[in-house]
Amino acid sequence: MDASDRLMAMKRMEMVQSLRQKGLVNEQVLDAMQRVERHRFVNRESSVSAYEDSAYPIGYGQTISQPYTVAYMTTLLLERCPPPGKILEIGTGSGYQAAILDALGYRVYSVERIPELHDRVVGLFKRLGLAISCRVGDGSLGWEEEAPFDGIIVTAAAPRCPEHLLEQLGDNGCLVIPVGEQNMQQMTVYRRVGERFEKELFHHFAFVPLIGREGWN
Ligand code: SAM
Repeated sequence: MDASDRLMAMKRMEMVQSLRQKGLVNEQVLDAMQRVERHRFVNRESSVSAYEDSAYPIGYGQTISQPYTVAYMTTLLLERCPPPGKILEIGTGSGYQAAILDALGYRVYSVERIPELHDRVVGLFKRLGLAISCRVGDGSLGWEEEAPFDGIIVTAAAPRCPEHLLEQLGDNGCLVIPVGEQNMQQMTVYRRVGERFEKELFHHFAFVPLIGREGWN
């Protein structure tokens, strides 16, 4: 480990500490956030501040989510659907959320609608040796060929819950998704119980829009 790696590891420790102080206390999630090197997933200009609790632009009008948001959504998923399991992420973006799920021991599938972001992430996952399956497409329709999933996590804002995603959950599977208006959404969890869906509501967040047939036009 060289001096720069040591510095980044220390900053990561401070990030994890600040997440704990903000009430995110799931040790498995915090351990994954300690291990995954967020500075590899942000643009070069943002890499010195990669461990601040901030979202950063990743190009094409998109952002890497704030560490708080990643830890929050991952905790909701993990507490209802612990690893190992098959998880679908909608909105690959920088690849950071997918890498956290991978570090927790899930088998991860991720869909991104912007080909340039997809291509960049596929190259990054290869360099980092991560076996995460990625594809370009409209994630509001899920990934039918790979369904059913034990969990689905949507990292973009949906106007309502996409039916295709609910249909692609296995029994007891959970969908974590921010639902609401373009400027504010409520984190929502759906759990499949046979042919029924139980719904839970959590805090409000502001995500970039889910653009697609079952998202925003
Ligand atoms: N999970 C990402 C990360 O860890 O960096 C954060 C993603 S960013 C907040 C939301 C992503 O969702 C963007 O990259 C955007 O292009 C993507 N997106 C929006 N609508 C989509 C859709 N219908 N299908 C797939 N990806 C979509």
